[in-house]
Amino acid sequence: MSILYRSTRSSAEPVTASKAILTGLSPDGGLFVPTEIPTFTSSLEEMKTMSYRDLAYDIMSRWLTDFTEEELKACIAGAYDEKFDTPAIAPLVKKDGAYYLELYHGATIAFKDMALSILPHLMVTAARKNGVHDEIVILTATSGDTGKAAMAGFADVPGTRIIVFYPHGGVSNIQYLQMATQRGANTHVVAIRGNFDDAQTAVKKIFNDREMAAELADKGIRFSSANSINIGRLVPQIVYYVYAYCQMAAAGEIKTGEEINITVPTGNFGNILAAYYAGQMGLPIHKLICASNENKVLFDFFQTGEYDRNRPFILTSSPSMDILISSNLERLIYRACGDDSERCAAFMESLGRTGKYDITDDMREKVSDFYGGFASEEENFAGIRDLYGKTGYIIDTHTGIGNAVYRRYAAETGDTTPTVIASTASPYKFAVSVVGAIAPDEVEGKTDFELIDLLSRLGGTAEPAAITDIRTAPIRHRTVVDPADMADEVRRILGV
Ligand SMILES: *Cc1c(COP(=O)(O)O)cnc(C)c1O
Repeated sequence: MSILYRSTRSSAEPVTASKAILTGLSPDGGLFVPTEIPTFTSSLEEMKTMSYRDLAYDIMSRWLTDFTEEELKACIAGAYDEKFDTPAIAPLVKKDGAYYLELYHGATIAFKDMALSILPHLMVTAARKNGVHDEIVILTATSGDTGKAAMAGFADVPGTRIIVFYPHGGVSNIQYLQMATQRGANTHVVAIRGNFDDAQTAVKKIFNDREMAAELADKGIRFSSANSINIGRLVPQIVYYVYAYCQMAAAGEIKTGEEINITVPTGNFGNILAAYYAGQMGLPIHKLICASNENKVLFDFFQTGEYDRNRPFILTSSPSMDILISSNLERLIYRACGDDSERCAAFMESLGRTGKYDITDDMREKVSDFYGGFASEEENFAGIRDLYGKTGYIIDTHTGIGNAVYRRYAAETGDTTPTVIASTASPYKFAVSVVGAIAPDEVEGKTDFELIDLLSRLGGTAEPAAITDIRTAPIRHRTVVDPADMADEVRRILGV
């Protein structure tokens, strides 16, 4: 069966998976969605015995049907290798009755590595398949995590270059060091005197600059995007939910075929949407628990059926979830509309114009597999401290939101379904907040690296290589520009 991708906002002719990956966003502003959601080829019994790579092929080949077996297997082999610090790639650990799916064993110790380590391979393959010989230049504005994960993925990938913009003084010290020390002759990091929105707005402007695009085309260069609306980031994320299930079944924690819950600390709605797609493919899922921090626009949406971004933006200790427009929710809305792009476009038009929309009761019924919850800063910290006190296991502040929401859900509903919690970042990446949760008296007067040492002692774990690297790696990127000069900086870098 061949799967094509169409826009959530128009009935334009569907395109192949490779074209959708290459293009990123549909020209009408919609997101690419499959014309049909594929089902598993292998049984859960069979998948239980597969390695991560074999399972990745089994799942991804169902979605990316215009990639040959050889192409897709090469992409998978190039991505899920020694860049991960464990052969399990995504290990599952049981603590205090819940299953933590550790998605942070890749190069930049956050879950975005799971998709961004394979996206460059998919993109280069897609270019080749479509007869595109241009150099692909990835432009990314980042608030911290995405830019580094994208650079780690694209570093030294032939035929590509990546330029990352981040707010000068607007990221954590660890995030700054991670970016400023990035290796790879094709990576470029630029700080801007402005905030993340300034960076994002200027990047969008460069993307839409037709004159520049034409100039670049003459030189055999084209821009592309690595952000989470690319279907090439979503599909690889389906794999680890199936893998988690298989690990539970293989260990006898559940019977094969038994339902599980999946809890996901959510921002842009990409990670949890992948879990939803896993369920649609045939993974036995009872509830998808969507966990928000104090920016609880999704909680309100699942509670009331109204999505309303008109509210203050709150800065929390789970910054990668500080978001008021969850772009990937559009793909769920499309499903809930009965795959009706006209209706979906009307909701998105309303979101653009008024900042909100209201779904029908019929649509609410269609998303009733989701349970929305949120946790305050205090609940998050208390949950991290409690789990550490009971088990000695340390989770980061994003996973902490998932943890707190799940614990409250279980207490309130009495639901005893075995539950996986997506563990989206290493605690080492957010050491200041995490030590603040488990040993608040120890934080004051300590540097980031002293807190990391303390975390290592408290948790009895060795610090990840990603941290050791930045202790001594030379600073390679020092450019700082004004937002108004970003386009010129891109020209300078590309030599046009
Ligand atoms: C990006 C990110 C999230 C949010 O994931 P979405 O797919 O945007 O919902 C959660 N935790 C961490 C650590 C992240 O980097």
